[in-house]
Amino acid sequence: MIVVMKQGSTENDIEIVKQKAIQQGHEPLVINGVERSVVAVSGNVNDDHRAVMKLLPNVSNVIPVGKPYKLASKNYKKENTVIRINDLEIGGTGLALIAGPDSAESQEQTIETALAAKEVGSNGLRGGAFKPRTSPYSFQGLGEDGLKMLREAADLTGLPLFSEIMDAQHLSMMEQYVDVLQVGARNMQNFKLLEAVGESSLPVLLKRGMSATIEELLLASEYILARGNENVMLCERGIRTYETATRNTFDINAIPYLKQNSHLPVIADPSHATGDNTLVEPVALAAIAAGADGLLIEIHPRPDEALCDGPQALLPSELKQLIDKAKIVAKAVGRSL
Ligand code: PEP
Ligand code: MN
Repeated sequence: MIVVMKQGSTENDIEIVKQKAIQQGHEPLVINGVERSVVAVSGNVNDDHRAVMKLLPNVSNVIPVGKPYKLASKNYKKENTVIRINDLEIGGTGLALIAGPDSAESQEQTIETALAAKEVGSNGLRGGAFKPRTSPYSFQGLGEDGLKMLREAADLTGLPLFSEIMDAQHLSMMEQYVDVLQVGARNMQNFKLLEAVGESSLPVLLKRGMSATIEELLLASEYILARGNENVMLCERGIRTYETATRNTFDINAIPYLKQNSHLPVIADPSHATGDNTLVEPVALAAIAAGADGLLIEIHPRPDEALCDGPQALLPSELKQLIDKAKIVAKAVGRSL
């Protein structure tokens, strides 16, 4: 951090800042300018250290240097992280296309949807069994029975299964069924859950909270990485803004920003970002052009019968069209699908 002193600050004021930096375990370096002095403080500086500095006499401003996240940052690891799940590689040149229903609703629907996803060219399967619903009166998912259906569908198609974990106590049970643990938008800052999945040997798909900044998403990923789980994917799924025309606002900036500042793979979810099946394809294509490493897309053989998120579900035939176009865009940006 840089501690900027007020004009007219005394040598004693600067000494107090230096001593505080040393007490915090950091190294201070005083730079005397013509009009004012600054103290450059290096070391493992966090928000609390900065907040305390601000309180010292004649300190005008405290400027952070560097990023608050470390393990997730490109400075910590230059090469992109590539996550391997069976035959699927996420974060390399190939793109991940993870498709499936919002939720497992029945064995028939789950298997029919998974077979369709595979048929049109998906390389991953999604599906919820534990659903974080805004209303407690809405369909909550089929729980472990749903996971069994999804596992059967995953085995039948050979596609790796992505499914949401809502409760740290479910971890060992879920590890028996899924290939990737999804942490949903509503749980992005459930720190105990993040720590729990950080102990798992399974990769984690971490969704951005609907009101979370990019920095908060990266700091949430840090909780998982710090526990030793290096296989974290970040997911942009739209954020809340003043716009009401769509379910959420897809933050396209987040994709290149995350790719520039982090080595972790970035997945785009145009389904939750738009909430509208007619907008899923164009937003998906934009995400690939912006540098996403994969897409997470909801499909349903009969969207009008879906128990959750029907309006944003694509028909398998619509997913096929999307994939055909995605291949062209991927090629244009040096990727493949
Ligand atoms: C989902 O993937 O079905 C889901 C609930 O997503 P999100 O956490 O992004 O709302
Ligand atoms: Mn959904």
